[in-house]
Amino acid sequence: MSKVVKFGGSSLASAEQFKKVAAIIHADESRAYVIPSAPGRRFSDDTKVTDMLLGAYAAAAEGKDVTEQLAAIKARYDEIIAGLELKDFNLDADFAEIAEQLKTEPARDYTASRGEYLNGKVMAAYLGIPFIDAKDVIFFNDEGNLNTYKTDKVLGAALAELPRAVIPGFYGLGKDGKVKTFSRGGSDVTGSIVAAAAHADIYENWTDVSGCLVCDPRLVENPKPIKYITYRELRELSYMGASVLHEDAIFPVRHSGIPINIRNTNRPEDPGTWIVESTCQKPDYVITGIAGRKGFCAMLITKGMMNSEIGFGRRVLQGLEENDISFEHMPSGIDTMTIVVHEDEFLEKEQRVVSAIHRLANPDSIEIESDLALIAVVGRGMRSASGTAGKLFSALAEKKINVRMIDQGSSELNIIIGVENKDFELAIKAIYEKFITAEDAKK
Ligand code: ASP
Repeated sequence: MSKVVKFGGSSLASAEQFKKVAAIIHADESRAYVIPSAPGRRFSDDTKVTDMLLGAYAAAAEGKDVTEQLAAIKARYDEIIAGLELKDFNLDADFAEIAEQLKTEPARDYTASRGEYLNGKVMAAYLGIPFIDAKDVIFFNDEGNLNTYKTDKVLGAALAELPRAVIPGFYGLGKDGKVKTFSRGGSDVTGSIVAAAAHADIYENWTDVSGCLVCDPRLVENPKPIKYITYRELRELSYMGASVLHEDAIFPVRHSGIPINIRNTNRPEDPGTWIVESTCQKPDYVITGIAGRKGFCAMLITKGMMNSEIGFGRRVLQGLEENDISFEHMPSGIDTMTIVVHEDEFLEKEQRVVSAIHRLANPDSIEIESDLALIAVVGRGMRSASGTAGKLFSALAEKKINVRMIDQGSSELNIIIGVENKDFELAIKAIYEKFITAEDAKK
């Protein structure tokens, strides 16, 4: 059994957090490969080290002196090193090198990546295990995407040599021979890549919450944690705004059949959430999660005998394509078709889109509605439960919320409803109460 363990920035923000992380690693010897993020926030208005580094880069790129900024970043690490009582260890030479780079050849990705690089060195020294520089084992191709083949080969060989190691997250080597980062939050991706290359049994992703929650805790107080969620369910919820993992972190482990376990560094006793390809585990509730977003528009297109006009849908969508607009949902009736789009993308192009659709598809009318919010109610349990839709609509009707649109995915994994922006929070609360709180009360 071997595990890859990734720790997020808040798990490594201070010496105290480092100690919790070491205790977690020591508690289970199968925790073989450790992926650290850069130190995150210690308190709510603190600055993440990655943001401090990006600030230093921006100043250096304008030719400004960054001595003070670098000193503030170094102080973050020195505080950790001192708190861990790491004798004979310092990052002086590394900071001298970063200062030199910023002066002579400032590079954004190199600078941003130093947060993870330095934290990895501290972590390796503290745990007493080898450090592998991610730039030697993770590679990007010409297009800036992961070079899966080369990475798997080189990283797999490096890991085969070392039973344990620390590999910093967030970066690798670009095709130009320079350090390149993933997008923000990319240490999740590194963890997934390492788990796949190591043929690990589990990818543990340690953060500051006890896993995925049924819905956003800013909308419902203390929502229940989700024990098991499938990759497909997670994709539906993430797409609708639930933030759990970096999107690109799914593919490498999913492809290798490795489950992800989201855990809480501050509450290691909590089981967290298992993200899996498929499971027989019965969900605790009919729905797995609720997520949603505001800021959509709907175009209601009508045309008599639309149902028998072959190619009508294609012509309408061509009007969107010509204007470079992607659509979210497209529920349709006999002579009507609704197209839901993102308001911010659509607003400036709206009249061009309308005239294009008139020119291409010749509808009777096009009406536009704005201020629409979409809510996704997701759950693999819905397929085998009857009355889910009825329960959902009665939850909303009881709160006098007007449902503007309904779309049930063909997978029966989700039901999407559109409500007015102003009803968004109330709708999520009502759904939560009906499917979770009321069910708990029956138990
Ligand atoms: N440190 C990077 C960031 O803040 C990457 C990560 O934490 O995953 O985005």
